[in-house]
Amino acid sequence: MIVMKFGGTSVEDAKAIQRVAQIVRGRLKSRPVVVVSAMGGVTDSLVRMSDSAARGDLESALAELQIVKQRHYKAAHELVRGKELLNLISEFGQFFDWFETLLKGVRALGELSPRTSVSLLSYGEVLSSVLVAAAFQADGLAAVHVDSRKVVVTDATHKSAAPEVGPTNEKLQAHVGPLLANAKVPVMGGFIGATRDGVTTTLGRGGSDFSAAIVGAALSAERVEIWTDVEGMLTTDPRLCPDAHRIRAISFDEAAELAYFGAKVLHPATLLPAVQHDIPVYVLNSRNVKSTGTCIRSEAPPSRTMFRAIAAKKGVNVINVKAPRMLLAYGFLKSLFAVLENHRCPVDLVSTSEVSVSLVVDPSRDIAGIVPELKQLGEVEVETNKAIVCLVGRDIKGRVGIAATVFNVLANTGVNVHMISQGASEINISVVVDEPDVPRAVKALHGELFTKPLSHRARKSKLPAVAARSGQREPSYKLAALSVGGDD
Ligand code: ADP
Ligand code: ASP
Ligand code: MG
Repeated sequence: MIVMKFGGTSVEDAKAIQRVAQIVRGRLKSRPVVVVSAMGGVTDSLVRMSDSAARGDLESALAELQIVKQRHYKAAHELVRGKELLNLISEFGQFFDWFETLLKGVRALGELSPRTSVSLLSYGEVLSSVLVAAAFQADGLAAVHVDSRKVVVTDATHKSAAPEVGPTNEKLQAHVGPLLANAKVPVMGGFIGATRDGVTTTLGRGGSDFSAAIVGAALSAERVEIWTDVEGMLTTDPRLCPDAHRIRAISFDEAAELAYFGAKVLHPATLLPAVQHDIPVYVLNSRNVKSTGTCIRSEAPPSRTMFRAIAAKKGVNVINVKAPRMLLAYGFLKSLFAVLENHRCPVDLVSTSEVSVSLVVDPSRDIAGIVPELKQLGEVEVETNKAIVCLVGRDIKGRVGIAATVFNVLANTGVNVHMISQGASEINISVVVDEPDVPRAVKALHGELFTKPLSHRARKSKLPAVAARSGQREPSYKLAALSVGGDD
């Protein structure tokens, strides 16, 4: 079997959903499970409505709800006919009534708990999955809607819940497995799940990719396909650099770094189940079915350029802890990381000197509670409005002068570098810069490092051996070309 996940733009209206039905029809032999996001922009809309209601502005919330309703009803009328349409409209009516009741509750209480917020946000995928399943049926596909809240079991971290692998696998195998065996096409909403007690949860923004990988791992998929609005994983964010080009093949570890450090095309957790079960993940363009996209797998041929790609993660905080007593002492780092551990706060980058430590902390983390505790260890300074620019590439390992090249480009562009990190695995170089410098830094680095091939000598010494190895290991590799050079 395979998993096909379609993002928001791929299901944004009736025309897009018809395209999706065509794509799925072309893969029926592979026994697909279809995972869909909310219609494009709907989750953002639901967030705004929830916030308006919590602020007491029910009028704005209901006005925006009206727009969301109309989008769904319009698509339903264009895709489904007769009795099925009436059933669909009646089902939508119940969802929207309940949604409105929740909004009014939020308005009355004047507060939005994480649990209620998630309940509201889940409606995007609840609605889209019911709509897509009905549209598929109207198009002659043997689609069956599966409520993800009944099969994806998570912990109770409402907004970015972690899946509980054992119970989730059991439920997916019990409910979705038999559908596939009977040649049905299961259609599920991404992003959403529920706790063991049935309380709705979400996997974090952009989490439908993760849902697809969870389903793929549970059902031993041959591959997971992430269908989106670009040609695949690109060498950088195309909104920053329109000349970003497609990466044809990339390794799991490289792609995971890119996703973690800001490449929005993939939710950062997507590759965890894929790596564990060695399931290749393809990123494909739903508007260009002929494109072969990007293949993410355990091994990939080297890129033609020095790095595979650049990503940028904005809004990070840098915490500097200065402690003279750290000089020639041990145990300081242990105390420092104990604070972070107690607050369950992951650290993106660390840099230490003999008397100070700099930590870069994910933007999602509230550091207000951490800082007072760190102050007991030393002088603390917090720098906000920073960003990590991360250059990723397996081929940098062992090459001399790579960091100098990066810093020259940044220096020539006048970008101030606050922190530098080159991981032990040597597959990435990350720098911390001021957030407003991100477009300038990325454009300069991309222009300099991604449009020029590696030097002749470097390519000659490395490429043939690695390419031959890749060819031997994965002879069945079909969707992305296996020639030397993992990118376009
Ligand atoms: P979907 O709704 O299909 O999940 P997303 O908006 O989450 O799509 O992700 C796709 C978008 O990610 C692209 O339109 C692109 O603007 C952005 N993006 C950022 N970095 C990259 C990258 N390195 N490669 C491809 N797309 C990227
Ligand atoms: N609809 C959700 C979001 O916008 C999940 C997703 O699209 O992956 O975050
Ligand atoms: Mg996405």
